Parts: sequence; structure tokens; C-alpha cells
Amino acid sequence: MRNPIRRALLAMTLLGTMAMSGLPDPVDWVMVAKIREEGLQRSQVMEFESHMADVLGARLTLSQDMKRAQGWATAVMAKIGLVNVVSEPFMEYGTTWDNEYVSVHLLEPDYTPMVGYPLSHTPGSAGKQVAEAVIVDLQVKGDLDRFRGKLAGKAILSTPPAVIDMTPLVNGSQRRTDAELEALERIVIVPTRPAAPRTPRNPEVLSAVEKMNFFKAEGVAAVLQSESGWLGAVRGFARPGATADRWSRAGTLAAPVMIAITPEHYNRMYRIASHGIPVKVEFEVRNRIGEQVEQAVNILGEIPGSDLKGEVVMIGAHFDSWHASPNATDNASGVAVMLEAMRILKAVDAKPRRTIRIALWSGEEQGLWGSRSYVRKHFGDPRDPKVGVTKDYEKLSAYFNQDYGPGQYRGIYLQGNEFARARLTSWMAPFKDFGMTMVSNQSLGSTDHVAFDEVGLPGFQFLQDRIPGGGGHTNLDFLDTVVPEDLMKNAVVVASYAWHAAMSDERIPRKTLK
Ligand SMILES: [Zn+2]
Repeated sequence: MRNPIRRALLAMTLLGTMAMSGLPDPVDWVMVAKIREEGLQRSQVMEFESHMADVLGARLTLSQDMKRAQGWATAVMAKIGLVNVVSEPFMEYGTTWDNEYVSVHLLEPDYTPMVGYPLSHTPGSAGKQVAEAVIVDLQVKGDLDRFRGKLAGKAILSTPPAVIDMTPLVNGSQRRTDAELEALERIVIVPTRPAAPRTPRNPEVLSAVEKMNFFKAEGVAAVLQSESGWLGAVRGFARPGATADRWSRAGTLAAPVMIAITPEHYNRMYRIASHGIPVKVEFEVRNRIGEQVEQAVNILGEIPGSDLKGEVVMIGAHFDSWHASPNATDNASGVAVMLEAMRILKAVDAKPRRTIRIALWSGEEQGLWGSRSYVRKHFGDPRDPKVGVTKDYEKLSAYFNQDYGPGQYRGIYLQGNEFARARLTSWMAPFKDFGMTMVSNQSLGSTDHVAFDEVGLPGFQFLQDRIPGGGGHTNLDFLDTVVPEDLMKNAVVVASYAWHAAMSDERIPRKTLK
């Protein structure tokens, strides 16, 4: 028993309420010192980050690239001494897809190499192709007749010219200021806005899928597009289509060749073509498409608990990325921090009471598929009477996630869970010198802690500095914009939070699930 007086006080409180107390929790300063020493003086976080971002590269869900990266992560977990290291299937995802080669050039009226990437789950070209690039502005069904029979063999400029966002060029570095942190802390109530009225879809307006199918039926050579809005950046996502069909081999082969291009190169072609001057392009795309449907997997590993080993504290980050760059910040940086946190805990010979489990998710970029499937299978969903909750639902203390870039932690978001405030605030005390001071009751969305939060389990995301550069989801997300000290500090904080959550007398209290 670590703290008899606190235990006694707690027992008295429990007699009154029998509820989770939400009391502050003492800091284990000796363990914090060990964690800080290991994580700040013998850090390996940049070894993990560099191997992912430089050696392994992009990690599209279920690609051969991703399988290779997951093999590496599994080996790292075993090497640092984790147990129950598993690669756990979460869904029949589709067939693998990997880009093996892409080359795009403007040939006429002036030669220049261009920067472009195929959209994922589109087919390759039949070798090197030369085609005239033409503007095709399709909006409504009435537009189809104007172009029918005229597009065979053409390269289609399918989106309007990209509008360049100049803000990142003007603003430069964006560490959070004290004033900004204080302002975030003071915002206690975020007024709920009424949901925007749903406007029924105008059946005359062509969807992205209808446009794509029209281009394919017309026998175009390629569909070119630009949607990034940032100089030099290509946003390369998946081809449009219903989720159920998006990742199949048949669906992939039924699509035209589709290439996303930087706004500068795309806009230049568009301006030339709009003057009536012929634009000739050359391109070649080779993609490797799997033969059969396979399961996508998450990777997990554990430090086993002792007297409370049936209870679990989880930490994690999504391992998958889009395919146009190594995505060093989104989210190799989060993965490196979580692996390093586990390495630190093993290196200091931590023997936690609760089991500490790391999860490296897949399918996050497509819609939190990996984490949502995992939560549903292992913990259930009280909102869905057909699923209900499992016996492990009550045994999870909390889940901590990183996925808002590689910036240093400056605080933590409570996700509206006021009952967790005292606990999460007291564990922040050893990290004042890191500038980690802020507890906000606000909620963040868009990443894997949501999979926990939405079913009433405590899932948290840290509040991070914004680091300039690192265009997540683009071709420009490389290691160069990652600040090593930030990742080192983050791993120390995660290791410490995981330790305290694993040692606390109580699990982290939960908010009321509405
Ligand atoms: Zn992300």
C-alpha cells in the first residue's frame, strides 16, 4: 500500500458516494527521475523516427510498404522486451496497393518535369503515354453531352486551378505563446452550435464517382487533378468511391489512371490550355495491385501488470499514412514517441500494477477503422444494444494518443471529462520545465482517441505546439521538420502518464456517456 493516509481518506469518501473520487493523485518523483534520465539522456526516439521516415517510407493501409513497416514495428517491440506482441486483424480490407513508379512531364509548349503521384487504388498506365491535356469542367449531368465522344486518349485537367494558401509563408514558426495557452485554458464552455440543415443533394450535380466513371467510359488516357492549395504540395488520397468497393482489385482496375499534381505545375498547364495553346504531357505509372482480399491489422504489445494485471492502460498512435511521402510527422512521429515511451519503461525496469499496452493502429486515415474495430471487439459499444459491452469495458483505465503533428506537449485535453481533471493535472507537475502546463476541458476529434471517447472510455490527446512544415497527407512530410527534443520530451511525458495511470489506486474516472 503506497499511501495509507490517502487510502483511509479515500475509503471514507467511498463510504459516502461509492463513486470514483477524481481526487488528485500523488506524483512518483523517483520513477519520474528514472524516466526523465532514460528518456532525455539515452533517447532512441529519433532512431525509431528515422527508420520509419527514411528507411521504410510511406505506410498506406494494407500496402506491401505497410506490411514491411509492421514487420519492423513487431521486431522493435520484441527487442525492447514487450510481451504479447501481436498483429491483430481488424477487417477484410481489400487488396494491397503500392505505387512502384511514377513520372510526369510537360512536353509542349515548353519542357518541364512535373511533380505528381497517383491516387491510391487506381491502376497504372500501359507504359509511357503521351497525351494532349484538355480542360474538362464537368458540373452537372447536362455537361456530359458536350464532352461525350471527344475525350478518348486525352489527359483531363479535371479540377479548377488550385488556389494557393499563402498563410504558411507569412507566419513562420508557431510555438504556442503563454497568452494563447491561457486563453485555451479559460475557454470552459464551447457553445454547441445547431447542426447545419441538411441540403438534399441535387441529382443534377455530378458526384466525384460519376465524373470518374464518365472519364473511364470515354477512354481517357489519364485524369489529372490538383487539390492541395499549398506551394509544392501534392495531396494524394484515394480514388473517389463507395467505401465497400474502394479497396477491391476489380474497383481499382475499373478506374482510370488518376494523378494528383502540384498546384504550380497543374495551374500552369491549365492557364496555357485556357489560352487555346496545345498542352502535351507524358506520364507513366506503375502500381502493384494485390490478387486477393486480405485482412488489415493493428500491432500491439504489452508490459504485463502485477496485482491489477487484468486492468489496462493503453497508449498509441496510427501507424498508417497516405502514400505520397514517408509522413514523418503524420504519424511516424506519434509512433516513435509511443515506442520510445514503452522502451523507457522497460529500460527503467518498470513493474506496473496494471498492464500497459501499446497500439499502433492502421486504417486511421480512411476513417479510424483500426481503432474503432479494436474498441468494438475488445470493449464493446454501450450505444449499440446489439453489441453491448464486454467484461473488459470496466477494466480499461485510459487511452493516451498522439496525432497532432510532432510538436511538444504543452498540456492535455480533458475531452470534457471533468472527473479526470484532478488526476491528469497532478501528473503534469514534473513537466513544468518542458512548458507543459495546460489542462483544457475542450475536446479534439479526428483521430484514434475518439474511438474510445465515443463509447464512454477515457481517451485523451495531448495539446501540442504547432511546428511549421511537415505537410501531413502530402508529398512533403519528411523528417527535416521534426524537432528531436520535442519527441524526446513527449516520450518522457507519455511514459510518466502511463506509469501513473498504471499505479494509481483507481482507474481514471469516466465522464457521463450521453
Ligand atoms: Zn494523423
